[in-house]
Amino acid sequence: MSLPQLNEARYGRACLLVLNTCPMALRRIIDHHSSSKGFGDFEGLLNHPRNKHGLFHLSFRQCCCGHNTNYTPMRKQQWDLLYTKTNSKNPHGQQGQCPCMYSAIPGVASDVMDVTLCCLVLKNLCRGIKNADIDAITEMRNQLIHASSATLEDTAYNDLWKKVENAILSLAKNGDSTLETDTKAAVKEMEQRIMNPGDLRSMKDLISDQKSLDELREVRVLHILVLF
Ligand SMILES: [Zn+2]
Ligand SMILES: [Zn+2]
Repeated sequence: MSLPQLNEARYGRACLLVLNTCPMALRRIIDHHSSSKGFGDFEGLLNHPRNKHGLFHLSFRQCCCGHNTNYTPMRKQQWDLLYTKTNSKNPHGQQGQCPCMYSAIPGVASDVMDVTLCCLVLKNLCRGIKNADIDAITEMRNQLIHASSATLEDTAYNDLWKKVENAILSLAKNGDSTLETDTKAAVKEMEQRIMNPGDLRSMKDLISDQKSLDELREVRVLHILVLF
């Protein structure tokens, strides 16, 4: 195998690690948190008034509580994966949306979430989880998605792999009893994986989904800048 191919395979494995292996573990942490902290399940976690209110503030600029913000890291498309409108009228007689008009989508499961949404939910709804580990995964995700070329040379690859592996294994301690072992095995499997055409296709799909998410955000930021 020539060097460029090696570097492409490294980039592919790193992407699958961050965009596929990580969210599988993160969803299990969120599910475990939901059941062990008295929310019942993921839908219950989302419907808890404090959680729904918290996530609403990450997606909407105005709220019935009177606290308005321009910091809305959760895209409307992400909110719509979790919540549905159950009340078409604002119950306070105010203009605009408010959390009282929404409920979690009946039967919604954590597997609707990609790595980006998992990180947002973990950080904002699951207390007691180390933010630095979540941030490390977000940072590596951003590095890969916005890389100037779809390759990773040896040092950069090893550095990224170590950071992601440490973060996800540390986070896995917050999951169900077999999550740590399963995550270790999944990371190892990905490390030794020989990228096949199917892997490359799913890597490309995952990257293009993440890129369009970021483009939506850029369009929105631009829109806000134009408004003010
Ligand atoms: Zn509010
Ligand atoms: Zn309200």
